[in-house]
Amino acid sequence: MNKQQLAQQLRQRLKARYPVLYVKHLADDQIIKSYVTCSGCNKQWLAGQELERAILESVSVEDFLSLSRQHRENEHRDTQQR
Ligand SMILES: [Zn+2]
Repeated sequence: MNKQQLAQQLRQRLKARYPVLYVKHLADDQIIKSYVTCSGCNKQWLAGQELERAILESVSVEDFLSLSRQHRENEHRDTQQR
């Protein structure tokens, strides 16, 4: 996928959970970032070139989310649950 395709699909998912007007207002980068950042401590566990590569390697949004989860488990040591 490219960044635009991924953001478009993530946007569809967000629309199911948040007001459409709010989602419309978000930039592609913000949308992608919200899926690779901890809502508890704000740590972004997938960024820069690694993020670019994960997007390119993904053939679907599910693929991307599963890569993102792997990175989260490897690199995010926050045990705090919110
Ligand atoms: Zn955290």
